Amino acid sequence: MIRWLTGIALAVGALVPAGGAIRAEALLRANGHFLKWKSPSNGSDTVISYAVLSGPFELPNDKTLSPDNCGSMHAFSDIVAKSPEVSVQLAKQELKAAFAAWEKAAALTFVEVEDASRANIVIGAAHSPAGRAFANLRVKSVESQTPVSRGLGKFDPEKALSLEKSGDDNESDFIAIEQAYVCLSPQSRWKVGLDGNIGIYDLRYTFTHEIGHAIGLDHPGRSGAVMAYRYEERVQQLTPSDVSAVQKLYGSRQ
Ligand SMILES: [Zn+2]
Repeated sequence: MIRWLTGIALAVGALVPAGGAIRAEALLRANGHFLKWKSPSNGSDTVISYAVLSGPFELPNDKTLSPDNCGSMHAFSDIVAKSPEVSVQLAKQELKAAFAAWEKAAALTFVEVEDASRANIVIGAAHSPAGRAFANLRVKSVESQTPVSRGLGKFDPEKALSLEKSGDDNESDFIAIEQAYVCLSPQSRWKVGLDGNIGIYDLRYTFTHEIGHAIGLDHPGRSGAVMAYRYEERVQQLTPSDVSAVQKLYGSRQ
């Protein structure tokens, strides 16, 4: 087993407990290593591509991946199937705003691409959602030196590995993320804008949270940050905890 996946779910929080403890920062780990996208050694922005699904997308048949957790995805437009007041165009606009929030917080640039099989982050609707929103990460085990023959569509694992091999030694504490998946439930209602009703999640907030996982961030605690695992509306933008975490992985914007 060379590849494995980490499933991270946004908790379906009905109530927001007051004053959850927040650690300074929280990063996803595997085997004691942080997970991140490969950064250029010259100090310029880490460029991460993403694709918005226009049709079905299947992840490889990996036993470690729950079928409920982005294992099978649909077109992005399906996310708002039960949200008549949110157009697909508006949902896409909120997705872009979520990427922009992370770009503002750290030396990151997100670029949209057409081909989902080659995109770093794939975004769409969940096929059989057990919750409202998820992120999954594919990473390469540091123990492995052998490329995997099992591909993902046109995704070329050889190329992905060669990119990682060009890395700096000083990044040995990190494992490179190979591909990440963000899926939202088309069976949930979504909204745009915070209105205090935490029974319906705001799209921008949810995208920002899940993209945070897709770039290597973990939950710092229960509440008080966008990356906290409870959905809450008193947090309306990235907090110092969120910013500190992303800057630890990708550096601050110069
Ligand atoms: Zn989460």
